Amino acid sequence: MKRSIVIIGAGISGLSAAFRLNKLRTQAGIELDITVIEKADYLGGTIRTEYRGGFVIEAGPDCFFTEKPYAGILVNEMGISDRLIGTNNKNQGTYVLWHNKLHKLPEGVVLMIPTRFTPFATSTLFSLPGKIRMGMELFIPKRSDGIDESLSEFTVRRFGREALDRIAEPLVAGVHAGDPETMSVKSSFPRFVDMEQKYGSLIRGMINARRAKKKHIPVKNLSMFMTMKKGLKEIVDTLRQQSRGVNFKTCVRAATIEHSGNAYRVILSDGGRIGADGIIIATPAYAAANIISSMSKDLSDLLLSIPYVSTATVSLAYNKRGFTHPLKGFGFVVPRKEKRHIMAATWTSSKFSYRSPEDTVLIRCFLGGAANQDMVFKHDKEIIGLVRSDLKDIMGISVEPVLALVYRWDRAMPQYTIGHEPRVKTIEQMTAGLGNIQLCGSAYHGIGISDCINSGNTAAQNVLKAIYE
Ligand SMILES: Cc1cc2nc3c(=O)[nH]c(=O)nc-3n(C[C@H](O)[C@H](O)[C@H](O)COP(=O)(O)OP(=O)(O)OC[C@H]3O[C@@H](n4cnc5c(N)ncnc54)[C@H](O)[C@@H]3O)c2cc1C
Repeated sequence: MKRSIVIIGAGISGLSAAFRLNKLRTQAGIELDITVIEKADYLGGTIRTEYRGGFVIEAGPDCFFTEKPYAGILVNEMGISDRLIGTNNKNQGTYVLWHNKLHKLPEGVVLMIPTRFTPFATSTLFSLPGKIRMGMELFIPKRSDGIDESLSEFTVRRFGREALDRIAEPLVAGVHAGDPETMSVKSSFPRFVDMEQKYGSLIRGMINARRAKKKHIPVKNLSMFMTMKKGLKEIVDTLRQQSRGVNFKTCVRAATIEHSGNAYRVILSDGGRIGADGIIIATPAYAAANIISSMSKDLSDLLLSIPYVSTATVSLAYNKRGFTHPLKGFGFVVPRKEKRHIMAATWTSSKFSYRSPEDTVLIRCFLGGAANQDMVFKHDKEIIGLVRSDLKDIMGISVEPVLALVYRWDRAMPQYTIGHEPRVKTIEQMTAGLGNIQLCGSAYHGIGISDCINSGNTAAQNVLKAIYE
């Protein structure tokens, strides 16, 4: 009997699930209909690359982190690893704005963990007492009560206040757009909690991990951040192309699910209905809550309790002529205490090749997040004006940009607040009670692209197993 699986949401999580299901059905010679429902008019969700006048503009994420292997493995599996690019080594370096001046983040610092002595000891970013306090991390006893600490408590306990204010908070804001006071360290950075338990010190743990790090991703010229020559859209487009036979429906929303026994029906916003033996919901948690509310109000409420923040990116391009800043580095992050509009800026044309025409440069600013939600919803003109005024103060850029683009991401970043882990466990138990429905995506086990790919793979395997076992 031919079976049917519906995937709701075509961000990287849903697309990975569709690709994996398609592979599994081909390998097993199973007759299976796979349908992907996407409310937007494009695939990729938060991954969105635009091509304008020779510029490659990333509206959402601009790279994936190779600390987790899943994105690299997928790229390799799809046969497009020759398209991968790493960061430009000659421009290495990230800066932190502190007291209105850009200080280089010492080489070897991973989030708040220093791993190399000399660059750290000579850094202008920290005071001498701050450096001594951070170094004392080696001797701080590990916590053994298993409490879910906030990132802020964890960082201050192990490394002191300067480490939080000057690096952990701004670097985390630049990735999670989150508030370290409420973020669960266990859910957002489980590796750090594991390192504390295993090595008694994050510095010791990180040095060990670095030594042990073999190139676990089958990719040439591996760097910590990687992307594709023409942007992350290449991954999205290839997933689509290599999911032959999968039925993609865009511009239509999954409204709700009806079920009777093991048979489900996905009801669409255009009145359409699709029968399914299994469903993967790869939307943000609040959208999953709406879809599932007719089946379980309690589950829906729990899904709604995962908070989200909104962010925006602003890409600004300039002619090199008249542009005086050397852009020697990957960009900078801005601690909250500096009271600026932007959280971070990437010097895109320095960080990655193939991003801008020869005689131009490209900068991308990140704003909004837990501390500055209102910024996201101002008019484009106002946002661009505020961003330009920050860049003028910080980098001395006063020339007119040749291109200025604003992209808003309304509630696109889930926040793993304290209690996230047990919350997700309960969500998964309750979902299992609904039969063959799987949740995947950035809301649950990691917001990075690699985590999302992994969650899509797992959901695909689970939904298929439930039908055929
Ligand atoms: C500005 C920004 C920068 C980022 N930078 C990075 C980075 O550099 N590196 C990194 O690894 N990660 C980064 N992230 C995080 C990462 O991009 C996301 O966590 C990841 O792409 C989320 O993928 P997803 O498929 O889980 O969700 P989404 O991309 O949100 O996809 C969910 C999809 O579901 C659809 N949908 C919702 N409701 C319905 C419905 N009822 N019916 C049908 N479809 C529906 C949506 O339209 C969307 O397409 C960034 C995120 C943002 C916002």
